Amino acid sequence: MSESTRVAVIGAAGRMGAEVCRAVEGADDLTLVGRFDQGDDLGDLGGAQVVVEFSVPDASPANVRHCVEQGVHVVVGTTGWDEARLGSLRGTLSDHDGVGVLIAPNFAIGAILMMRFAQEAARFYESVEVIELHHPAKVDAPSGTAARTASLIAAARAEAGIGDVPDATTQDPDGARGARVDGIPVHSVRLRGLVAHQEVLLGGVGEMLTLRHDSFDRTSFMPGVLAGVRAVGDHPGLTVGLEHFLGLDD
Ligand code: NAD
Repeated sequence: MSESTRVAVIGAAGRMGAEVCRAVEGADDLTLVGRFDQGDDLGDLGGAQVVVEFSVPDASPANVRHCVEQGVHVVVGTTGWDEARLGSLRGTLSDHDGVGVLIAPNFAIGAILMMRFAQEAARFYESVEVIELHHPAKVDAPSGTAARTASLIAAARAEAGIGDVPDATTQDPDGARGARVDGIPVHSVRLRGLVAHQEVLLGGVGEMLTLRHDSFDRTSFMPGVLAGVRAVGDHPGLTVGLEHFLGLDD
């Protein structure tokens, strides 16, 4: 039997980080060797081979850079990784051959499948809108998953030669029609009692297809996080999206 993989968690005192610590401790093939949070010296990361990073958008790039510079693979769930941040990380990785970083906007397997199904369905429908619903402590809107879903849908529509979504609205002073991500309307709901949910509404003549995914609990993200931990060492360089580790990337 192969040796247990040593794992540390950054953001370990947070909601996701605490759940990851529990999941790692519950996995036979993984050993939790470090819990780090704001103000802690990351040092040698407790001797970890893989770090899981769930902190805050402003702290995540420096945390991930530290891990890469230590030669440690990283699985990142923190949001806020825009193109500039990804570019800078690619630069750091180019100096550290063999180190893998996975950044996944969503670790829930069902959410990844929903994005794939939305992408597949997009070319068959004239209208499409994305509605994401989250707990009221979420600080960013729209969610990374909703933005990514909209981008994938927009790309599929463009490839199929479908024009703008039909919408006669000419007056919307308060933004009631939602945000636009690559031309796709995206609506954000923040409601006590919710965790993370999303609907994609696809409308055609006389019909509607609804794709919906619900994360009822943060445990829903753990199978994806652990799959990332187990695979990241075999994927040097930067990977964005867990779908690439699940055989869904073609
Ligand atoms: P949280 O606020 O509960 O936890 C964040 C933790 O990070 C806190 O314990 C905080 O003290 C810590 N932190 C702050 N600055 C730090 C620093 N410099 N170094 C180390 N730790 C630091 O938030 P959460 O709900 O656990 O979410 C964390 C992140 O994960 C958010 O960006 C959220 O959007 C994202 N998220 C991603 C997924 C996914 O599937 N990818 C799922 C849920 C949440």
